[in-house]
Amino acid sequence: MADGETEELIDTHCHLASERYGNPLAVREECRALGLAHCISQGTNPTDWEPTLTLARRMPDFVSACLAVHPSDCTEVDEQAWERMKQLCRDNRLAAIGEAGLDYYWDAPQGWDEAAYRARQRDLLERHFELARELGLNISLHTRDKAGAGDACFEDAFAIARQFPTVRPVFHCFIGSRRQAERIFGQLDGMVSFTGLITFKKTDAVQAVAAWCPEDRFMVETDSPYLSPEPHRGALNIPGRVRFVAEKLAQLRGVSFEEICRATSRNARRFFRLPA
Ligand SMILES: [Zn+2]
Ligand SMILES: [Zn+2]
Repeated sequence: MADGETEELIDTHCHLASERYGNPLAVREECRALGLAHCISQGTNPTDWEPTLTLARRMPDFVSACLAVHPSDCTEVDEQAWERMKQLCRDNRLAAIGEAGLDYYWDAPQGWDEAAYRARQRDLLERHFELARELGLNISLHTRDKAGAGDACFEDAFAIARQFPTVRPVFHCFIGSRRQAERIFGQLDGMVSFTGLITFKKTDAVQAVAAWCPEDRFMVETDSPYLSPEPHRGALNIPGRVRFVAEKLAQLRGVSFEEICRATSRNARRFFRLPA
């Protein structure tokens, strides 16, 4: 084992403050049993910002917090709430800004036309990047296009990220192409992270990207409570199941599980500036 590093697993994207979880201490026990060392929990709207910070405060060894407005919540957040979030970001130790981004998969909510809804999302994403730049943090990015409807969402997020060279993005739950990944690495100094999706059938394209991806450019995540990996597909997901994502990556890349743990944890510690 190089440099005295231990094999450890870090889930770089989960929602531990989700109301779908009961006792977070019990969840931690379950995750520890699966070998999880640490997780990065993403606040996404005014109802889970404080609970996310509370978890990080109560279990600093186990949870680090990110705060943002998820693009799907962009019409629910007024200026007052945005200012409150900015203050929380300034007053607390965060691993990154997140998750923020663009989502063109879901239709605009009632009372919004599609163009205005997307413009609202882009405006908010720019503001997240400004905040990240101000605080010297990186950003956890969500992008999702409608299947078969082109790459507008990715391209718009990419163009915004380009304007902020000091902020590094991680494209979470990456399912894009190798070409997109190359642009993220080469032009944004960014990262990608893989979820349990790579354990599903018929995900050959993203599995091929995961097999190719340079070792210093990817991390692993669960996006729990969503996206439970095989062999637990469809169940309530927990951060500890990032183990199955790492195991799949080891298989795809033809390396050991320990090697995936080492590389992804090193990448995560650097990207999220976690204490050693
Ligand atoms: Zn997301
Ligand atoms: Zn998420």
